[in-house]
Formats: sequence, C-alpha cells, structure tokens
Amino acid sequence: MTTIKLHNTRTRGKEVLDPLNPDDVRLYLCGPTVYDRAHLGNARPVVVFDVLYRLLRHVYGTDHVTYARNFTDVDDKINATALARKEAGAPGSLEELVQERTEETISWYLADMAELGALEPDHMPRATAYIPQMIAMIEDLIAKGHAYADGAGHVLFSVKSYKDYGALSGRSVDDMIAGARVEVADNKRDPMDFVLWKPSTDELPGWDSPWGRGRPGWHIECSAMSHELFGDSFDIHGGGNDLMFPHHENEIAQSCCAHPEGDFARIWLHNEMLQVEGKKMSKSLGNFFTVRDLLDQGYPGEVIRLVFLQTHYRKPMDWTDKKAKEAEATLRKWRALTAGIEPAPIAAAAVIEALSDDLNTAGALAELHKLSSAETAADLLASARILGLLTDELGAWTQDEDHDLSHYENKLFEARHLAMETKNFAEVDRLKSTLLDAGVEVRMSKTGVELVPGPAFDASKLDAI
Ligand SMILES: [Zn+2]
Repeated sequence: MTTIKLHNTRTRGKEVLDPLNPDDVRLYLCGPTVYDRAHLGNARPVVVFDVLYRLLRHVYGTDHVTYARNFTDVDDKINATALARKEAGAPGSLEELVQERTEETISWYLADMAELGALEPDHMPRATAYIPQMIAMIEDLIAKGHAYADGAGHVLFSVKSYKDYGALSGRSVDDMIAGARVEVADNKRDPMDFVLWKPSTDELPGWDSPWGRGRPGWHIECSAMSHELFGDSFDIHGGGNDLMFPHHENEIAQSCCAHPEGDFARIWLHNEMLQVEGKKMSKSLGNFFTVRDLLDQGYPGEVIRLVFLQTHYRKPMDWTDKKAKEAEATLRKWRALTAGIEPAPIAAAAVIEALSDDLNTAGALAELHKLSSAETAADLLASARILGLLTDELGAWTQDEDHDLSHYENKLFEARHLAMETKNFAEVDRLKSTLLDAGVEVRMSKTGVELVPGPAFDASKLDAI
C-alpha cells in the first residue's frame, strides 16, 4: 500500500500516516463562519483538503475515508449582519434574519466550493445542531476542574489547568499573552482563559443552559462536533495557520481535558496564507476578492484550482493574473488533448508518489506536464483527476469554445464603412463598447475587423447588439 507522509505541526516534522482504523480514515477541517461570501484565502484550505481527501480515497478506498467540515452558524458577526438588515427595515425577527443569513451564506459557500471542484465532505455539521453536546462537554470540563462559571452567564476555560497548552504552536503561555490581544476581563481568573459559554440577549439566538440562556464560544463547537462524529481520537485535523492560535490550541485544551484517554487529533495540517499580486489581501488595498468575484470576472473555477495547486500548501501562495492566464492555457491544452478519451484505469505512479510526499502538488503537476502528449493522454486524464482537475464537472468552461464572431465582425465593418461617409461614429462606438463589455478584444485595421474573445468573454452580453 502507498505510504502517505504528512507534515505534522504538532511534532514539526513529516510523519507516516498510520490511520487508527484503515477502514475509516477520519479528517476534520475547520469550516467557515457563515456571515458572508468566502474570500479567496478561505478557499485555500478547502482545495488543499480536497486533494488530501481524494488521495486518501484513492489509497484506502472511497468508502474508507470520512471527512467532516463544520459550519459556524452562531457568531457575533452573523448577528451583526442580521442586525444591520433589521435596521435597514428588513421584515422578520432578529432570530429569523440570522437564520436567513446563515442559510443563504451556506448555499453560496457550497456553490462556490463546488465550482472549484471541491467534493462535499461526508459530514457538514452546523454548530447550532450540536448545542446539547457542547453543554455536556462544558459541564464535564467544569466537573473535572478545567472550567468555571462566573455566575453571570459566562463559563471560562482555565488555561493554567492544562499543562500542555501552547504545545501545538510551540509557544509559551507568556509569549502568547505578549503577542496576542488577550482580553482582560474581571470575570477571568487568568488573562489567557477563554470563553466556552456566554449569555445571549432575548432577541439574539440563545439556548437554555445550566448557566442561563446563552450561546457557545467558537472553540468549543469543533471539540464537541468532532467528538460526536469521530470519538476521542481521529487521524487528521487541519485549517489555515491563522487558526493555530488560539483556535486550535483551545480545541486541543478542551478535547484533551474532557477526554484525557484519547489523542484528539493525531496529525495537524496547516496551510500557509494567500496573497494577491505579492500583497496581503485586504479591503483597504482594493485587492480583496471573494471566490465569486473571480468567477464573475470570468476566471473558471478549474483555473483558480490549478493556480492554487501550483504552490505547496505550506508555502505562502501568491494569486496573480499572470499565473491565472498560464493555468488557463495549460488547462485548454490538456482538455483538448484528452477530449473524447477514456481515462487510464489507474493514475500514474509518479503523481501518487508526489502527492503522498506531504501533498507535493507542484511535483504532481510537473508529472502531469510530462504526460502532456497524445500518446499518454489517457494517463494524463486519470492522473489529473486525482488532483480534481480535468473532471467532467469542471469542464463546462471549455465546451462552448468555438465562438463564431464573424457576424459581429461584418456588422462592425459595415458600420465603420457607413460612418466614414456620414462622419457619425455613434453606432461604431456603441458596437465597440458592447463588444468590449462582453470581453471581446476588437482589432480594427484598414482591411477589416478581427474580434478575439478574451478570458472574461461572455457571449450573453452580445445580445445587446
Ligand atoms: Zn475548528
């Protein structure tokens, strides 16, 4: 059987994956807080984990891998967006508006991730469906001396009660206090202590608990849901490296204190962050993209996926327009080569080998380039599909390719001919601007007109002509 090695943040080295149960390899990825569209950086762990999921299914069998990714559907940011809607005059109670916001965001998220070729996980637990399990875990932590209620509706985790706190990120508690914006509050016995439960107002979502009507803190949900789905120990836990502290440290503290007989997650996988054209993505720099923004700008999901996979997950990845253009050219070539061809029965060994070495996607892509010829097209197809590329689901963007624009070329040529006589170029300008708006490059010379569809070409916009 193929040996898979993964870099384990916990031990700071590559380790052989030795599943607790090879008949059921279990992985958990921290999912989105559903208050808005996923931005490009949010999509990176999803694509990384999708490749891991596909590789594990390839090695252990499709029915022997269980992948869970949660939805955080109770959160202050969700409440804030619902409140803004209510203040803008939206009908319904605040709780209904919260519900509406989470439902719409979840449907956007699933549609956007599907466009990037990400398979849906086997479990997509929503935090609000696991409140009793969270309350039970908090009660257990209090009983074991790891948490305390402040008598005013809050329950806090006592960080000093867990001696290994900080081991994942390799920082001492003192360093973490110095580096993080630790909220000092009167109800905390120690500044590092974090919230497990907090009170809710009557209008906001809330649940009855031994500490009054309230809602859970963020960290407890992943501990409670992964335990409900996977038990005391499972194989792989992941997320962006921005989640390592405090979120993952807190998850470990909660889970290991509540279930000291288990390991919680054995391998921790963290992906590096994403930049855009060499800069940190931020709203103030104007380079902040949601996945949907890029799809709407005409970048096919498969192109976005290929750009992501060109960089190893543990390295910062830079999204650039140049990379997207190159990825598009590569995919056009591969799709043309494999059109109408049946995939080979198995993927190329070199591709599996590269992926098994800590998800070396760049190495796997280099192998695909070597297979990029007519003689090996069937191998190219089978191997690319392990990376979630050249799948039928993602192929629509190259299908309606042969756009015959000669009708529009003639129309523009005649309009220009007429304008030369009348000296009225209004119609020519109108045609040109409609074509440009549809993503068509207009090349005009004395002898004729040539129209070239660009990457953002949208044939439906030509209807205006
Ligand atoms: Zn989590």
